[in-house]
Amino acid sequence: MVSRIIPVEDFDLVIFGVTGDLARRKILPGLYRRFVAGQFPPGAAIVGTSRTAQDDGAFRQDAASAIRDALGQGVDEARLAEFLAHLRYVALDVRGETGWDALAALIRPGVIHAFYFSVAPGLFGDIAERLAKNGITDGQSRIVVEKPFGRDLASARALNRTLARYFGESQIYRIDHYLGKETVQNLMAVRFANMLFEPLWNAQYVDHVQITVAETVGVGGRGEYYDHSGAIRDMVQNHMMQLLCLIAMEPPYHFDPDAVRDEKLKVIRALEPVAPRDIVRGQYLAGPDGHGYLDDAENPASRTESFVALKVRVANWRWTGTPFYLRTGKRLRARTSEIVVTFKEPPHSIFDEAAPRANQLVIKLQPNEGMHLNVMIKEPGPGGMRLAQVPLDMSFAEALGPDGTDMPDAYERLIMDVIRGNQTLFMRGDEVEAAWAWTDPIIAAWEAGQIRPEPYDPGSSGPEEALRLLHRDNRRWREIRA
Ligand code: NAP
Repeated sequence: MVSRIIPVEDFDLVIFGVTGDLARRKILPGLYRRFVAGQFPPGAAIVGTSRTAQDDGAFRQDAASAIRDALGQGVDEARLAEFLAHLRYVALDVRGETGWDALAALIRPGVIHAFYFSVAPGLFGDIAERLAKNGITDGQSRIVVEKPFGRDLASARALNRTLARYFGESQIYRIDHYLGKETVQNLMAVRFANMLFEPLWNAQYVDHVQITVAETVGVGGRGEYYDHSGAIRDMVQNHMMQLLCLIAMEPPYHFDPDAVRDEKLKVIRALEPVAPRDIVRGQYLAGPDGHGYLDDAENPASRTESFVALKVRVANWRWTGTPFYLRTGKRLRARTSEIVVTFKEPPHSIFDEAAPRANQLVIKLQPNEGMHLNVMIKEPGPGGMRLAQVPLDMSFAEALGPDGTDMPDAYERLIMDVIRGNQTLFMRGDEVEAAWAWTDPIIAAWEAGQIRPEPYDPGSSGPEEALRLLHRDNRRWREIRA
């Protein structure tokens, strides 16, 4: 199956913070890949900005090396040279008043205008204000806002209010790159384009759901930033909440941005407050390299969690009785992101030798995006009726090309959605606020209790208490493996 490329309308894309890590690792390489895929109109212009003083030539050279670093062998030098011709650069300090005229001069009338805020969140308001005041944006312009979107309900509300002064909600694209993953969208296709799963997708047939986002790396390098955030702010409030919503939501009346986001919002609002006994926080100890969380964060007194596991209840007709277990952490056994939907066991076994095991739908976001459904079959061969569990595989990487290289990265897809004006895979302001409204009391309780997170060994599955969170309910986590 070869993916179909639909070119987008002519556009100018301005990237603030273009010399930064995200732009160099993801945004510029992603744009190059879309260009090579044939999705760019001939006139498309990309304007990079940051405070660094450099001309177009120096910027293009830096962009080329960033793209080569990110894509390695995958770069075609002739195509790269063609891509670089679309790039321009303007130096400006988003807190200052100079440079905006030069930027305005590069924006063409009559094409789509998108502005990507790939800078620290403290600068989002400055950019929005100066874009509007300098007449660079109008009612049709789109802005792309990176995470984190606030650090609690109050700051998220304040940021929403600031952006709303200059832009309508239909112009604001709040990025959650998890939503740009192939599997995440496929989850909606599997649920709502098939009859097979939806009748079973409820507390009567689903025993429980697990969502795991495990990383092998620690917080070294961004320890100071992370120490002010922690796992619940960094992963649960946004990415994991979005995954939970896509699993738990009702079918939207149409695959339309507001219809989908209305249904997600209802899920967030239906989340019960989490009791302290249903939360485990962890902090990794030192490994063979001698660095533990406290060293990486450069804060020996830190009580910030690098791991969190929660038992979450969605209080509505569909899900009452089916817990959702969420777990995420740094320096764990393997790097993996997956959702596991475990169905109930058959009510009665007609087989003497071994009872059938529960079916599981495993939705893998990384690595190797794909889904598989574990089903029971008869073990092949003579020797009576022995049962075995086998996966029915739906691996997208293979379906999209011989080596999976055609699979677009989440950022590529999301940037093209911005140009298309499709907000389905972006978070709406009220969703973000509802998610903070649910996480704020959890964080406030931790801060009031001054409780230290449970220690765990690097390379493990997290603290023992996280295992007990499920054992207590006669369940177990799926092993963390790549
Ligand atoms: P970064 O490496 O620190 O880059 C920041 C960029 O902003 C640089 O290009 C910097 O260039 C520019 N900048 C800083 N102050 C400026 C000012 N006053 N005026 C104009 N430009 C200014 O940050 P990053 O890692 O790329 O992250 C960018 C955003 O993406 C952040 O909101 C971050 O939370 C989010 N994000 C990043 C990642 C990631 O993997 N890196 C992942 C998810 C989300 P100059 O110093 O030359 O001005």
